Amino acid sequence: MSWSWRLGKFAGIDVKVHATFLLLVGFVGLSYWLQAGSLESALQGVIFLLALFACVLLHEFGHALAARRYGIPTRDITLLPIGGVARLERMPSDPRQELVVALAGPAVNVVIAAGVFIWLTLTTGFAPLGQIGITGGTLLERLLFTNLLLAGFNLIPAFPMDGGRVLRALLATRLHYVRATQIAAALGQGIAFLFGLWGLFSNPLLVFTALFVWIGAQQESAQVQTRHALSGVPVRAAMLTNFHALAPDDRLARAAEYVLAGSQRDFPVVSFGRVIGALSARQLFAGLAQYGPHALVGEIMHPHLPAVTDEDTLENASEHFQGEGTHAVAVTRDGQLVGLLTLENLAEFMQIRNALRAAPGQAA
Ligand code: ZN
Repeated sequence: MSWSWRLGKFAGIDVKVHATFLLLVGFVGLSYWLQAGSLESALQGVIFLLALFACVLLHEFGHALAARRYGIPTRDITLLPIGGVARLERMPSDPRQELVVALAGPAVNVVIAAGVFIWLTLTTGFAPLGQIGITGGTLLERLLFTNLLLAGFNLIPAFPMDGGRVLRALLATRLHYVRATQIAAALGQGIAFLFGLWGLFSNPLLVFTALFVWIGAQQESAQVQTRHALSGVPVRAAMLTNFHALAPDDRLARAAEYVLAGSQRDFPVVSFGRVIGALSARQLFAGLAQYGPHALVGEIMHPHLPAVTDEDTLENASEHFQGEGTHAVAVTRDGQLVGLLTLENLAEFMQIRNALRAAPGQAA
């Protein structure tokens, strides 16, 4: 995620903080300032914030470690004003597993709150309940309050927030996964709209939250639909078969000719029938500027091109685009290069498929 800084690595997972998290810091800081404008209360505010920060982080580790139990790694955890995002490599497709992963985050906050509650009961006792809030009460009392708030807020069924995922998982035990996602996403956007509207008149932070939820719901719903449309379809149904390959001892001038003559932007580099690398149009332009048209392809190519077989599904092949940030995937049969799969390719395939589906006389 851009606009974020890396804090460190814990339990094998990168932890980052997003620039907009500072908005939360500002909001809490302002609350303290309005309450009592002294240095001492400001310092207390900082300590409280660090503790809150840790609770949000533990919430995300709840998700990440629950997912790890099902063999799903987490790329990184980013802290945002709405409570952080653990970027899991994928969501469990088994609804019961998704339910556990979604509930694990808020469960951490409930456990922290319960721990603080027991501690306070055994030691000092409580301030009158009415005084406890984000800025009222002792540090521990405020932590108890905010942890319950975190758990409760995240359990609002606004997909893709935790409560929305719980809802999707519950729906998916009875409905098709795509349908369950559509319903959860529609409800998520409805709630996000109300959040945003309410936020306009009360708290600008809510407007941001609403925006995150709205966009998140839309993106994830579209992703699920695409993945479903691509599942079970073999790569050979969509791959480019009419393409140019380069040899490592080809000159850059030849690659430039290919770029001008056609619409191909990514070239596999083949030596003795084996794919040994790739050259993108962008690398070509940089190479031309630096070394001129007589330089060899083998000297500036990227020495790795992800490969799939033509029997693989498009769903599996498309994971290369998400994970590795590449624009092309080599398609092989018995070790020989037989095709190329690009993002444009996939998009065209989807368009053709949708068009055919809309054609008269076709069952959906
Ligand atoms: Zn969560």
